[in-house]
Amino acid sequence: MNRLPRREVDWFSLASILFLLTFAPLIVYYFIMSCAQYQCSLTAPLLDSLMGNKHLSDIWNRTPTLTYRAAGIYSLWVTFQVVLYMSFPDFCHKFLPGYVGGVQEGAVTPAGVVNKYQINGLQAWIITHVLWFANASFLHLFSPTIIFDNWIPLLWCANILGYAVSTFAMIKGYFFPTNAKDCKFTGNFFYDYMMGIEFNPRIGKWFDFKLFFNGRPGIVAWTLINLSFAAKQQELHGEVTNSMILVNVLQGIYVLDFFWNEAWYLKTIDICHDHFGWYLGWGDCVWLPYLYTLQGLYLVYHPVQLCTAHALGVLVLGLLGYYIFRATNHQKDLFRRTNGNCRIWGRRPEYIECSYTSVDGTKYHSKLMTSGFWGWARHFNYTGDLMGSLAYCLACGFEHLLPYFYITYMAILLIHRCLRDEHRCSSKYGKDWERYTAAVPYRLLPGVF
Ligand code: NDP
Repeated sequence: MNRLPRREVDWFSLASILFLLTFAPLIVYYFIMSCAQYQCSLTAPLLDSLMGNKHLSDIWNRTPTLTYRAAGIYSLWVTFQVVLYMSFPDFCHKFLPGYVGGVQEGAVTPAGVVNKYQINGLQAWIITHVLWFANASFLHLFSPTIIFDNWIPLLWCANILGYAVSTFAMIKGYFFPTNAKDCKFTGNFFYDYMMGIEFNPRIGKWFDFKLFFNGRPGIVAWTLINLSFAAKQQELHGEVTNSMILVNVLQGIYVLDFFWNEAWYLKTIDICHDHFGWYLGWGDCVWLPYLYTLQGLYLVYHPVQLCTAHALGVLVLGLLGYYIFRATNHQKDLFRRTNGNCRIWGRRPEYIECSYTSVDGTKYHSKLMTSGFWGWARHFNYTGDLMGSLAYCLACGFEHLLPYFYITYMAILLIHRCLRDEHRCSSKYGKDWERYTAAVPYRLLPGVF
C-alpha cells in the first residue's frame, strides 16, 4: 500500500506520550475526586496521604464505582447523539441566514482526498437542549441534576468509550483503513496509539470519527453539564450565583459558536492535520467534558457571589476574548475562501504568496495573510481564546487553584499548538514561511511573544 512516509519518533516525544498515557487519566480522576471528597482542594488529598492521615486505598474506596444506571444513561446519550448525527440531515441552513450547514467539503488531505461531511451539529445541539429544557420544565422524566449526581460513575463510562474508540481506531488503521494513503505509521506502538494512524477514519460514507467525537459526546455535552451543575447549585444552596450564570453564558457562547461555525472547523488543525488516535478519541470523551467544565463543578461546592465590578470585569474580558477569537478566525476563513479577494478592516488584505509540494509531488500555491489581526500576531485567535479561558476561571474568585487549571492547560495547549503548527508550516512552506515570520514577528502578543 502507498502510505505517508514513516516518521522517526524522538525520545522527548516518546517520553511525553508515555507520561500523558499514564498520567492524563489520573489527572482527571484527581481533579474530580478532589471536588467530591475534598471540596475542590487540590492540595488536601496530597497532604492527607503524605502525612499518613489517609491511605490512597481510603480515597479509592470512597470513590463511586461504575453503576448500571450510569452505564444506561451514557449508552443512551451516545446512541442519541449518533442518531442525531447520522439520521437527521441538516435543516438549520434552510432557515438560518448566514449559517453554513448540510453537506460540506473538508480540506485536501496529504494524499489529495477531499472528504465530504454532513454538518448538522447545530441542529443536534438545538434538539438536545430543547429536549433538556422540555424535561426540566414540564416532562420531568429525570432530574436536571442527573449529570452531577452520576458524575464519577459517568467518568468510568466515558473512559471505557475513550479507550474503546482509540483502540478500535488503531486496529482499523492497520487492517481496514478508510484511506490507506492517508495513514501514518511510525512503527512505535505508543506513538501510533496516541497520535493516531488514520487521518480521517470513517465507518461507511458519513460516520466521521473526528467530527463526531470532538463535537457530539464532548461539546454538545459541555453546555448540558454546566446546566446540570447550575441545577445542583440551586438544589443545594437555594440560588444560582452570578458566577455560575457567567460561566454558563460565556462557555455557552463558545459552544454555540463552535456549532454555528462547524463548517469552518473542517479547516482547523484537528481536522486538517491531526490523525485520529487516543489524543483525540480519549481526549474528546474524557478530558474535554470533565476538565473543561471544572468551573461549574467548583461552583457547586463553592457558590461564589461576585460583586458587580468583578462580575462586569469577567463579562467584559470574556466577551472581548470571544470577539478577538471569532474575528481573527473569521478573517482567515474569509481570506482563504475568497483567495484574498475580500476586505479586511475596510481594505484589501496584504499577504505573502507561498507554495508547497504534496507527497505525490504536485505543486500547490497558497497565501499567508499579513494584515488585520493576522498582521498583529501569527496566532491572535489563540490570544482571544486565552482571554476567554481566563474569564471563566476569574468568575470563580481566588479561593482555590482548581478553577485555574483551565487557563493553565489552555496556555500549555495553545503554546504547544503554536510551536507544532509553526514547525509544520515551516517544513511546508520553507523560505516563504521565513518571509512570513519576518513580516509578522510575534506569535501571541505583539512585542512580547
Ligand atoms: P488556526 O485556525 O490558526 O490554523 C492554523 C493554520 O492556518 C496553519 O496551519 C496554516 O495552515 C494557516 N495559516 C497560518 N497563518 C496564516 C495566515 N497568516 N494566513 C492564512 N492562513 C494561515 O489554528 P487551529 O486550527 O489550531 O485553531 C482554530 C481555533 O480553534 C483557534 O481559535 C483556537 O484557539 C481554537 N482551538 C480551541 C481548542 C480548545 O480546546 N478550546 C483547541 C484547539 C484550538 P495552511 O497549511 O493551510 O497554510
